[in-house]
Amino acid sequence: MSRSVLVTGGNRGIGLAIARAFAEAGDKVAITYRSGEPPAGFLAVKCDITDNEQVEQAYKEIEEKQGPVEVLVANAGVTRDQLLMRMSEEDFTSVLETNLTGTFRVVKRANRAMLRARKGRVVLISSVVGLMGAPGQANYAASKAGLVGFARSLARELGSRNITVNVVAPGFVDTDMTRVLTDEQREGIVKQVPLARYAQPEEIAASVRFLASDEAAYITGAVIPVDGGLGMGH
Ligand code: NDP
Repeated sequence: MSRSVLVTGGNRGIGLAIARAFAEAGDKVAITYRSGEPPAGFLAVKCDITDNEQVEQAYKEIEEKQGPVEVLVANAGVTRDQLLMRMSEEDFTSVLETNLTGTFRVVKRANRAMLRARKGRVVLISSVVGLMGAPGQANYAASKAGLVGFARSLARELGSRNITVNVVAPGFVDTDMTRVLTDEQREGIVKQVPLARYAQPEEIAASVRFLASDEAAYITGAVIPVDGGLGMGH
């Protein structure tokens, strides 16, 4: 059965791997992008999730071209690392605005049609850092921890309507986001990961696709770590 899927930030990195995983399974996949040339093979809609109007336009286009969103993967996210002492209010609020409020915006808009259909799948991409914390990432960790409370509230709110809301918490994944780290930083991270390596984006995508599948129909409010064991204990 071909479903209408939306992956925010599906133009690169983890989001692109997720979009590909759904497309390979035969689903209709829309991705958001902000600039440049989006990858081929998807319904690419231009959308900055910090802008309500753009979110509304994106959903209208998706509904028109591939039907109401049945599976939403809220993946778009940013970092703006800084030690607390040097972290400006802007550094803090801009990360919250994208990662948490932006996710609220896209989930809220998707919820409308899901309620009507009395079914839906929502997967939020958090991070191991939201559970463990990380120096220099207080803004990012707060936003990613916030997603857990957000998802669990919605799981309770929407469960009776057959809508599941789950969280995937990746560890360190080989994408543009982590390519900014120095070799020394990367080595330091790998030393702490039981599986002793970074994840590939496809390894995150596999869990997301599972949570959106029929096999996962009885899973909601879960936080699935895909972190090589780094965050064990949460
Ligand atoms: P990338 O930096 O490679 O990609 C980030 C994606 O988010 C891009 O598609 C980007 O779009 C999009 N995006 C950022 N801000 C906005 C916005 N305001 N509106 C719409 N789209 C936006 O990151 P990853 O692929 O590594 O990360 C994807 C998700 O996974 C993020 O939420 C991240 O926090 C999370 N994560 C990543 C980990 C890692 O190790 N890489 C570990 C744990 C979690 P554009 O191309 O327009 O910039």
